[in-house]
Amino acid sequence: MENLIFLLIQRYLIRLRETIWHIYNDYLGIDFHRCILIEGVIMKRFDERDLVVSRIGLTENSKKYENFYTRHPELLDSDRKTRELAMKVVAKNFGVTPEKVKKRLKKLVIMQKIMGSITRLTGIKAPSKFSIEGIMPPEKTREGIAKYKLFAPAIAAAFSINKALGKSKVSKDKVDIGPEKMTLLIKKIASLYGADLVGVAEFKKHQRYSHRGDKLGIGIEYGKPIDASYKYAIVVGAAMDKDMVNRAPKKEIMISSMLEYSQTTFITEQLASYVKSLGYDALTDNFVKYYSPMTPLAAEAGLGQIGRCNMVVNENFGNRVRFAAVLTDLPLVVDKPVDFGMVEICAKCGKCARNCPAKAISFGEPSKINGLMQWEHDENKCFEMWMKVGSDCGVCLSSCPFSQGVDQALSTKMKQDETAIDQIISQDNEEHGKRVFLKEGWPVK
Ligand code: SF4
Ligand code: SF4
Repeated sequence: MENLIFLLIQRYLIRLRETIWHIYNDYLGIDFHRCILIEGVIMKRFDERDLVVSRIGLTENSKKYENFYTRHPELLDSDRKTRELAMKVVAKNFGVTPEKVKKRLKKLVIMQKIMGSITRLTGIKAPSKFSIEGIMPPEKTREGIAKYKLFAPAIAAAFSINKALGKSKVSKDKVDIGPEKMTLLIKKIASLYGADLVGVAEFKKHQRYSHRGDKLGIGIEYGKPIDASYKYAIVVGAAMDKDMVNRAPKKEIMISSMLEYSQTTFITEQLASYVKSLGYDALTDNFVKYYSPMTPLAAEAGLGQIGRCNMVVNENFGNRVRFAAVLTDLPLVVDKPVDFGMVEICAKCGKCARNCPAKAISFGEPSKINGLMQWEHDENKCFEMWMKVGSDCGVCLSSCPFSQGVDQALSTKMKQDETAIDQIISQDNEEHGKRVFLKEGWPVK
């Protein structure tokens, strides 16, 4: 009985805190939860609700919809257009009318509300069934291979491993070998689990999402404040297969992308479990549930530099890398962000922007946002292109010279020697022309 009273009081206090946040954020327009002062500079916290994938699932005239567009009236018209397009594409995939899709979505929202109430009242999570077949039509190659089958089991397995290892216990005995040795050990373990890249960043408060957005804006945690307070983020990267990337914007780009999202989930879930066995708490920040956007975090961990394409470009793998992280208080040594001359080469290259079919990538100058040099990127235009081509496009991935491989003797000189940049660009143009595209299908060539 005491436990039940305690549970109810705890839930009441959480609801009260959330309501206060909503009053501040939504009605008074005071957005302090999403900004933070670091060394005299206002850093904007990322909000998962702001992502286009979260916005697009909002149902017109719902409370979430009203709240969101009261805060962001500038996005109302472009989002409406993107949402209509998404409805049409989904309807076409299922062979039904857009109205029918809207009705199904409404039903889904009602179901989510019921599930949310059950979870809030009892703490019991309603079972959910993950089915990729439910959202993707069974597209086949000429040879009859069902392409989505290539990644559907990997995604299902990624969700399962999160469920299986997420609850693993933190060992009572703490292992202490010092931050230097521990960092080497953790990096080695991450590589053994399959990481192509691994780095450590301080997990600063402004890098964490302020509120849960959930994919398609229909999750039961939508709008919940997030407070993942850990000191460090161990960031891992898994490189996508070059041949598959070079088929962009065909389905292979999406298959490869999904495989690496799954791969980074496997790596981080195992790594978090390992960290717990050393006596320290750990939380996975991956495809199953993100606590921060990966691009700035991967840049902070020194795994590459943000390029014009709005992604982290790694010297060896380019922008064809997927990232995930393990958040922890395990004492570690942080890596420094790298500067190998992306701002300089992007100023001259611009190949991703020229090839972007949606014109979503800026031809302009970068500016410093939250301490990192970044270019403008039109998320709506990019997402609409994903809808039109039926994959996650990825032409900007295959376009980048670093994705194809750049001579290291030249890339290490980019900062000091402008002629090295000219050589990289001309070599890439000679070898790959305006844009790389593998004409033959994959895996059957
Ligand atoms: S994924 Fe395609 S549409 Fe989006 S930015 Fe890259 S090239 Fe442009
Ligand atoms: S394609 Fe060129 S401009 Fe775009 S990110 Fe790569 S180097 Fe920079």
